[in-house]
Amino acid sequence: MTTNVSEITRLVYSGLEQNGYRGRIVSIKHIADLKEEIEAHYNGGVLDKALYREYSLASFESAAPEDFPAAKSLIIIAAPQPQYRVKFNYGGRLFHLIIPPTYSHHTDETVGNLLSDILKAKGFHLRPAFLPFKLLAVHSGLAKYGKNNISYIGGLGSFYRLRAFLTDLPAFEDSWHGLQLLEQCNQCKACINKCPTGAIVEHRFLIQAEKCLTFHNERKGEFPDWIEPFWHNCLIGCMRCQSVCPANKRLFSWFEEKESFTEEETGLILKGASPYQLPRVTIGKLYRLSLLDDINVLPRNLNALLGQCESR
Ligand code: SF4
Ligand code: SF4
Repeated sequence: MTTNVSEITRLVYSGLEQNGYRGRIVSIKHIADLKEEIEAHYNGGVLDKALYREYSLASFESAAPEDFPAAKSLIIIAAPQPQYRVKFNYGGRLFHLIIPPTYSHHTDETVGNLLSDILKAKGFHLRPAFLPFKLLAVHSGLAKYGKNNISYIGGLGSFYRLRAFLTDLPAFEDSWHGLQLLEQCNQCKACINKCPTGAIVEHRFLIQAEKCLTFHNERKGEFPDWIEPFWHNCLIGCMRCQSVCPANKRLFSWFEEKESFTEEETGLILKGASPYQLPRVTIGKLYRLSLLDDINVLPRNLNALLGQCESR
């Protein structure tokens, strides 16, 4: 059995490597460690209540091993991902807007199918798990945290998307690391200086997530008054701290040119048209950008960016 597990583990890692992915396998028992750590942050008053509810409780419920009693390990995977550059025609002008790495869902299925094919051929099973991916990646040794609480992987910087899976394949080598900070962070404050909102605090491991632009522009509702219009820099999310990080030095200019929205499409999105009101061609563009789930926040985010560009 041990040899078999070791051989299948090797097959999983080589399959990932051949496809450009990175991954780690750890024991399922660490779900409890992740939950305990998040609760400790929340009880210690350094984790916002909304984030605690959103990222921890719901996630842990969906990954409860009772749903998959034979599950023995967690696989955390990083799929490399560029920034997307998207064009919006509006008011006779062309605007180039950025979607940061991590937002495209399209590698999720590919990664899942790859792992499933390898494991199924050996009689094992796989199921997606919605866990705090960055925390899991760092504890598994796959990634390290930056001061901006973005996770980084050697050679990939922060340009990747994380996904996790439960499997009944036992963890052959279960290593679980303490939280590790990037070595570059020891001599660097670039993200602290660049963050427009002051969310990154010196001498505190967790950023003030409730001050982060990403926290606000991924959620519905009006932006708080304290957010200055000129701080917005991405269609969703924020690239300010990642774009100055030396760990991303070789990746700064990794862009993929993506969809182009016509004047009419831009107008419809700004008006908050629902997927039923948008032309099929527009739906196709939003699907390819993995933005259909975020359609409710797009009018507000797009309006903030176009308004800011127009006023220049
Ligand atoms: S910008 Fe500097 S301090 Fe911030 S995460 Fe990157 S290396 Fe660390
Ligand atoms: S994502 Fe933007 S707002 Fe959030 S910590 Fe980084 S620079 Fe600051």
